[in-house]
Amino acid sequence: MSLKISLHLGDITETVVDAVVNAANSSLLGGGGVDGAIHRKGGPAILEECRKIRARQGSCPTGEAVITTAGNLPATYVIHTVGPVWQGGNNDEDRLLRNCYRNSLKLAEEQGIKTIAFPNISTGIYGFPKEQAAQIALDEVQRFSSEVVEEVRFVCYDGENFRLYQSLLAALDNE
Ligand code: ADP
Repeated sequence: MSLKISLHLGDITETVVDAVVNAANSSLLGGGGVDGAIHRKGGPAILEECRKIRARQGSCPTGEAVITTAGNLPATYVIHTVGPVWQGGNNDEDRLLRNCYRNSLKLAEEQGIKTIAFPNISTGIYGFPKEQAAQIALDEVQRFSSEVVEEVRFVCYDGENFRLYQSLLAALDNE
């Protein structure tokens, strides 16, 4: 079945879903932006599990995803995925960003997750052009068919991303 898509403007750390996705860096040890917010609000249990994953597999490659508890967040899980750093567009950035969405959704499916929230991966510190990133995000979610995952919520933190998603979703509705 295709997934229900919803759009919100706000802070993903307050989102009540089964899993929130974190735009992590490959160290999995925390950083700025949404990563910092998730670790700050979720508390040390998240970092503890990230350290265990690192001990097992080393760092997380770009485009891949891993899952931990959500600690004190209202969500149950955090799926950490590593977005590509924008380097001009000729370094496989599109494919890697697609992988982030696809691998996060696959992991959600494996864990029996029904509702999942995504931030606008790579469009902050990593500098990915916002419209291109939004198109990729929506396209990958639309392609993903699942008997398990039911709803994807895009949580935009800035008005620019929110308006971009609004108009892309409106265009889809009119297709
Ligand atoms: P990246 O390094 O992948 O670019 P950032 O965290 O810098 O990651 O930015 C990714 C997106 O997350 C940006 O659109 C940024 O505005 C957004 N963001 C930052 N804080 C939050 C938050 N608390 N909730 C949701 N989105 C957030």
